[in-house]
Amino acid sequence: MSNLSDLPFGATEFSAPLLAWYGRQGRDLPWRNTRDPYRIWLSEIMLQQTTVAAVIDYFQRFLQAFPTLDALAGAKQEDVIALWAGLGYYSRARNLHKTAQIVRAEYEGRFPVEVESLCKLPGIGRSTAGAISALAFDQQAAILDGNVRRVLCRLCAWQEPARTTAAEKQLWYWAELLTPHQRVHDYTQAIMDLGATVCMPRQPQCGICPVAAVCQGYELGIAAELPVKMPKKTVPTRRQVAVVIASKGRCLVRRRASEGFLGGLWEFPQVSVGDDETPEQQLSLLMQDHGLTGAADLLGQIKHIYSHFRLELSLYKIQGDNLRIAEHDGEWLAFEALAELPFHGAHKKALKLIDSCF
Ligand code: SF4
Repeated sequence: MSNLSDLPFGATEFSAPLLAWYGRQGRDLPWRNTRDPYRIWLSEIMLQQTTVAAVIDYFQRFLQAFPTLDALAGAKQEDVIALWAGLGYYSRARNLHKTAQIVRAEYEGRFPVEVESLCKLPGIGRSTAGAISALAFDQQAAILDGNVRRVLCRLCAWQEPARTTAAEKQLWYWAELLTPHQRVHDYTQAIMDLGATVCMPRQPQCGICPVAAVCQGYELGIAAELPVKMPKKTVPTRRQVAVVIASKGRCLVRRRASEGFLGGLWEFPQVSVGDDETPEQQLSLLMQDHGLTGAADLLGQIKHIYSHFRLELSLYKIQGDNLRIAEHDGEWLAFEALAELPFHGAHKKALKLIDSCF
């Protein structure tokens, strides 16, 4: 630890006013007044990459369908994914299901208490493990989610990019030094709340902050410039063609393989368009693959942003009662049934477009 910097203030100079503030101003959230590791784990996974406001309804619906870990472990994966549809990052839903099955089979249905054991479960990283361990079991476990990372960078005036390996080590070190032995449950929620409601990304509210007296970023007048961001990577654009193949009130759709990108979600038949190809060329190959003859009409262009690329999707329709489908890997379903299926983002937009066209 010799190359790591110590805290520029005493840990209790931070935790004492923070806990006092939390007692007055802490948020009341549906997953707060519980020590149930199942509920805490579920909320932590849902909150990754998502805001509290977006999560509340999903959290409540999910618990209605799967009130216990046992219920989730026994569910079909497609039912779990259906309840997740719209939250994005679907590997989280698949990992949730897998972890429930592992905890049921290998831990007699009880979550392990220690961070090291929790980290071995699918989808649980060090910070999520720390949150479960601290919030459910009051263990002295640190967290370093996005909110806490920002608070620490400002508090200790960390002026290097915050996402490097060196920053990671330093921030975890500070996070551990700051985590108290007592009231870990409250402390963990308090530091999350501080990041979400006071030390906000764009406009830190230093004037009302309970820990301003020790904050180095505030003292130096650089709080709003921290954390320092890494230079932005350019996000590539990919192109695809999808076809709505309709016959006699039904439509051809397919479910993606359960593993991998957007696994388990539904879509219309689609193909990628390479850099030196046109959507029309790929459309005609897709039609040949499906033994389709006849004219395809362009329904529209759809744009969608995924975490690592932008998608431009050309959506076509082919309609007729005498379509010849040579072979396919999907299912013919009634149009009314499509709204019930968990389609992935771009194809959900396609559904809205076709509503007005058929
Ligand atoms: Fe964040 Fe300002 Fe509080 Fe420092 S004083 S922790 S920058 S809100």
